[in-house]
Amino acid sequence: MKKITIAIDGYSSCGKSTMAKDLARRIGYVYVDTGAMYRAVTLYALRNGLFAEDGSVLTEQLEKHMGNINITFQFNPETQKPDTYLNGELVEKEIRSLEVSNHVSPIAAVPFVRTAMVAQQQAMGQEGGIVMDGRDIGTTVFPQAELKIFVTASAEVRAQRRYDELVSKGMPEPYEDILKNVEERDYIDTHREVSPLRQADDALLLDNSHMTIPEQNEWVMARYLERASED
Ligand code: C5P
Repeated sequence: MKKITIAIDGYSSCGKSTMAKDLARRIGYVYVDTGAMYRAVTLYALRNGLFAEDGSVLTEQLEKHMGNINITFQFNPETQKPDTYLNGELVEKEIRSLEVSNHVSPIAAVPFVRTAMVAQQQAMGQEGGIVMDGRDIGTTVFPQAELKIFVTASAEVRAQRRYDELVSKGMPEPYEDILKNVEERDYIDTHREVSPLRQADDALLLDNSHMTIPEQNEWVMARYLERASED
């Protein structure tokens, strides 16, 4: 079967990564979580005082730091998932905190941050055989991807999933705060000027509000098998 490029986009905490990771593992493709890259830039900015009091990004200062921000992934055989490293430091847990979630969308709206991240993502996917998840993969990073999926679910269902994930990682936060964060990120992600979150015209829509994880995994596997066996 030919190696294709698979773009999975959608709203925050809609289960994209769970689905993308499972698919990549089963078909032997590389998995890239592009949200982790924007989160790593955000962690760097938080640690280096690159936000103003009101939460806006100090863009001029951040721009000077961009050359010092190196994000890499390393496959973790124990979890069977790639871990995110910021300048050589394992930051997989830190980048999932609510503090980072609360600051990431303004960072991801900065044009020079997007240009830098998109260039790295395109380089990673040059050879195909990749599953990449994010907000703009099917529209901007790989507009030519053979399989594009746009995932959505209600904000309440997504907040509950993020709540459960944070509890399981030992970093619980109130459900109401998480819901607010999910709604705010939806707004910023869909309204920003550069590459706003939107369904690509040729993307398949998946609303997984009422699907179990195994059901959505089977759904995406079936779509992959269809596309990869086409001439
Ligand atoms: O997918 P995740 O929720 O971890 O992404 C964190 C944030 O990064 C999103 O809310 C969005 O603002 C940003 N993002 C983006 N473009 C991507 C991936 C993530 O703007 N391709």
